[in-house]
Amino acid sequence: MGKGIIAASLAKLLQSRGFNVTIQKFDPYINVDPGTLNPYEHGECYVTNDGAETDLDLGHYERFLNTPTSRANNVTTGRIYQTVIDKERAGDFLGKTVQVIPHITDEIKRRMRLLEDEKNYDVIITEIGGTVGDIESLPYLEAIRQLKRDVGSENACVIHLTLIPYLSAAKELKTKPTQHSVKELLMTGVQPDVLVCRTEHPLPKDIREKLALFCNVESNAVIEAIDADTIYDVPLLMLKEKLDKIILKKLNLKSKMEPDLTNWKTFLGKLKNPTKEVTIALVGKYNELPDAYKSIYESFVHAGAMNECKVKVIPIHSESLIEGVAEKLANFDGVLVAPGFGERGIEGKINSIQFVRENNIPFFGICLGMQCAVVEYAKNVMGLKDAASSEVNPNSSNIMIHLMEDQKKITSKGGTMRLGAYNCKLAKGSLAHKIYGKSNIEERHRHRYEFNNEYLERIEAAGMKASGVNPDNGLIEIIELPSHPFFVGVQFHPELKSTVENPHPIFVAFVKAAMDRKLNR
Ligand code: GLN
Repeated sequence: MGKGIIAASLAKLLQSRGFNVTIQKFDPYINVDPGTLNPYEHGECYVTNDGAETDLDLGHYERFLNTPTSRANNVTTGRIYQTVIDKERAGDFLGKTVQVIPHITDEIKRRMRLLEDEKNYDVIITEIGGTVGDIESLPYLEAIRQLKRDVGSENACVIHLTLIPYLSAAKELKTKPTQHSVKELLMTGVQPDVLVCRTEHPLPKDIREKLALFCNVESNAVIEAIDADTIYDVPLLMLKEKLDKIILKKLNLKSKMEPDLTNWKTFLGKLKNPTKEVTIALVGKYNELPDAYKSIYESFVHAGAMNECKVKVIPIHSESLIEGVAEKLANFDGVLVAPGFGERGIEGKINSIQFVRENNIPFFGICLGMQCAVVEYAKNVMGLKDAASSEVNPNSSNIMIHLMEDQKKITSKGGTMRLGAYNCKLAKGSLAHKIYGKSNIEERHRHRYEFNNEYLERIEAAGMKASGVNPDNGLIEIIELPSHPFFVGVQFHPELKSTVENPHPIFVAFVKAAMDRKLNR
């Protein structure tokens, strides 16, 4: 439906008027966080600077607002219950029966207001995952009802995102599902203040009036959210619909200035008027679900716009790259090998890397992609035929990638990887240093395995350079091949830091390298 995009767009508009805004996501499922979820279930797992594994909507929030989120910005039912049960075990409830109301709802409300004091926000937007009517969502709706009472109705405002289906046979937009979901909301005691209506066709005035009357909202609070060419159009569409003004009025907030969206519009102008085009292969294994690589796709959108270049990203299943790799990859202007876990698809990743390395095709490896680049180099250049990562073959006599020391004792899966932002020092004169234009950077991580430093000297002597190193513990964070036009592997996840206003420099440089290759082919 796009709740995340609507939330991010509203936040963008408020931010462009000078307000300090943040967005948080509350997910009604029982997992404590999405870190243990298969990407096929819930898309990519987004990681914050402070190392929380979170819902991918937080990625949209950061990309739109250009401000970092944190652990407090994503909460699940599992986390809420865990907190309440821990308190119960500690005896904090003094013998009382612990119940959904008030204990669970109190904990939901506490977390809804957790960020209030921290950064002095003017507005906090809380996105509730799921759908009105889900059994799991009920405590959240009840918490909303209570919160409005607690803070006063002039300090809280409820936006309901709803679908207005179009029946093409009858050429008609239907309001019935919205009437029903609002009725459902009203049964929990929540009256929406604003309806944001997802629609494929413009909402005529009479439909808006009908919705306003039946759902008991003001006519100007029925907002059309029509399908857009790109998610980055949505803030401007919401501006046209005056969503920001309606919210400010409901919250009794005086706008500090007219929205300043200059940078946003410059970005959109470039995005929509590319002068060149490149095609990039995304070699991964969760290709059936584009959401599994959400941040990578979006990083290419940002980097493409920066280069005024349309970037076509074609997913290629790593399991299909066992044979015929040359035919499958020769026509790409660049190849990105994706992050991932486990053994499946490794051989295809290694084959692709050998091909792009030997044929001077720009290569960008992220996390597992970087680890595969190291293994490929060891196998095919250093002649260590059985080189491997211990994640794939723990019995190999040349373990190039091994479990980090502090990971060896860990058995529990949730939240135990190396997570969040770490420092990295770039070698002067390296491509990485040139790309970033500075020596010290900070990037986000999510992995258990690392480059085995026992091989550092040998691999460097063979031509692969470690150009980024963690200054505190010596972990290798970036590798590159000076003899190749563009061959960069990173142990971290640069895609988690790319935003509209700050496209990630490695993605920008990779797209540029792909453009150069296309030009000189
Ligand atoms: N499976 C690898 C590790 O745990 C890579 C992880 C990733 O690509 N995010 O180190």
